[in-house]
Amino acid sequence: MDLHAIVSETWASLADERGSGNPARYIPALALVDPAKFGIALATPDGEVYCAGDADEAFSIQSISKVFALSLALEREGAALWDAVGREPSGDPFNSIVQLEREKGIPRNPFINSGAIVTTDRFIGERSPDQSVEDLLVRLRRMGRDEKIGFNEEVARSESETGSRNRSLAYFLADFGRLINPVEDVLSVYFRQCALTMSCRQLAKSALFLAFDGTDPVTGQQMCSASRARRINALMLLCGHYDNSGQFAFEVGFPGKSGVGGGILASVPGRAAIAVWSPGLNRAGTSLLGAKALSEIALRTGWSVFSGGRASS
Ligand code: GLU
Repeated sequence: MDLHAIVSETWASLADERGSGNPARYIPALALVDPAKFGIALATPDGEVYCAGDADEAFSIQSISKVFALSLALEREGAALWDAVGREPSGDPFNSIVQLEREKGIPRNPFINSGAIVTTDRFIGERSPDQSVEDLLVRLRRMGRDEKIGFNEEVARSESETGSRNRSLAYFLADFGRLINPVEDVLSVYFRQCALTMSCRQLAKSALFLAFDGTDPVTGQQMCSASRARRINALMLLCGHYDNSGQFAFEVGFPGKSGVGGGILASVPGRAAIAVWSPGLNRAGTSLLGAKALSEIALRTGWSVFSGGRASS
């Protein structure tokens, strides 16, 4: 299969649609990004990364970070994490608070904001917020094999200044006794985690372990157990796009996680990790062009987890 052609032709076939969708404006620093950016990177186990467009430009990964935070929280807490956060799709928007009261402060899953705040709290454990962010960076740099991975303080500050909804969620969780650390400590890590900046190339390389049973096939480093990788993939498929997860599974068929910075990270079990970026979003906060690009790649490779491997053009 000519993956180089598939990636570059997918990019070219959608290039005229750059700028479609609506970039997130509720975090002011995100509204400054050029809406015409569009990148694709597809990493394979032999170490190749097939790229097109703005694949080497770092952007705000936002909720894609929840995948890495989940993996690290599971490493620290083990299965006990599931006492604090569920594993069901929410069918509600990413920052919804309604289920939390009815379900006594147990978020539906680790990818909606309330669930991610709990996951971040458990990832912090007994460390200081700064140490936790540092540990997250060290891990991501190792996974992405790139020391340049960092976070954007301006985006983190902008998000904190306008973060009333996330503060509400966190204080609500604390009221139910669901957080171990002080609310502002948890949020200070959560905001910086969302403000991590990575390129499509770095993201695709960092996520290969999810597609290969927890071990990065290029370096041989084990990031998590095979069963944990399988479960993270399952959650990405069912909950990775909030109330748009069904539509994403229907159109694309890869476990994926969106971020309101316009990135989507997809894991294709046994085959590849793919990252796409285009800032314009649909109403549920998933990149419009990014989802189209992944749908096209799924079609052309036959890699949807729901298909038998036959490619169509
Ligand atoms: N930082 C964003 C928030 O908490 C993440 C949302 C997303 O990327 O879907 O509002």
